[in-house]
Amino acid sequence: MSTSQPPTSLSPSRASDFMQCPLLYRFRVIDKLPEKPSEAATRGTLVHAVLERLFDAPAGERTAPRARGLVPGQWERLLASRPELAGLFAEDPGGERLTRWLGEAERLVERWFSLEDPTRLEPVERELFVETELESGLRLRGVIDRVDVAPTGEVRIVDYKTGKAPRPEYAEGARFQMTFYALVVWRLKGVVPRRLQLVYLGSGEVVTYDPVEADLKRVERKLLALWEAISHATRTGDWRPRPTKLCGWCDHQAFCPEFGGTPPVYPLTVPAQRAEPAFSSPSDSARAPGTAAEPSPGPARSSASASDAPAEVAPEGA
Ligand code: SF4
Repeated sequence: MSTSQPPTSLSPSRASDFMQCPLLYRFRVIDKLPEKPSEAATRGTLVHAVLERLFDAPAGERTAPRARGLVPGQWERLLASRPELAGLFAEDPGGERLTRWLGEAERLVERWFSLEDPTRLEPVERELFVETELESGLRLRGVIDRVDVAPTGEVRIVDYKTGKAPRPEYAEGARFQMTFYALVVWRLKGVVPRRLQLVYLGSGEVVTYDPVEADLKRVERKLLALWEAISHATRTGDWRPRPTKLCGWCDHQAFCPEFGGTPPVYPLTVPAQRAEPAFSSPSDSARAPGTAAEPSPGPARSSASASDAPAEVAPEGA
């Protein structure tokens, strides 16, 4: 008997999945098809862990050498919690690839010190799981990398990206993700975050947005439209593929009709008598910003946070 359940909540990553390709969303959320871990995504997870753990140290000891020194230990911890990651370097008997990969993680960690000064930061939250329910019943959830609160009470939400900052025409996706988090914080705490800050470790850039209430209401409307589209597809089983250049990053081509594959049997019950109109694709209002027609191909993806490729929709690792 199938254990699949209809989706009950939305995160920025899954929202981006649906906006990129409804069938991809189905494969990940409904079918829960396994995906291979990638070096890039795993490196992002590792870097996030190091930046989080560094704040355990007293402010004056949050130095670059200390942060670099955390990399091997955090990699061991990650491996212990997810043994399948060992497969990434299974064909690397000499350990050269692993050494290079760890070195890349160290460089990303080190670059952070040119962008922020952790000796002057005291985050109130790190890796904060947030969840709220909108009046419509839609549950929004996600994990915020860091929350800073100024002495004056102003809230700053910070997200680390291990890729490069996207070109302006593709920046909307990252802004969408941050505004999603701002909406959740606003609904939870009643405070509109003063600043949303993206720290791109890949290119050494910091991008900020200062949202206003109208921005959050706009993203809320967009999410409601998106949820309606997801609910419709869930009920009807009509999950259309939307091929783009991002298909190159998709683990599920073997199941995708666009690549000659056949999706698994739909695991949810579809009412047979239901005569719903065919649903072609989410409306433009439910598309990922920057994915409307043909998202650009990503360069070699090195991010764990939807930061490369078209930064806003590439698969995430952290
Ligand atoms: S290969 Fe492309 S069209 Fe097919 S499911 Fe993956 S992202 Fe969608």
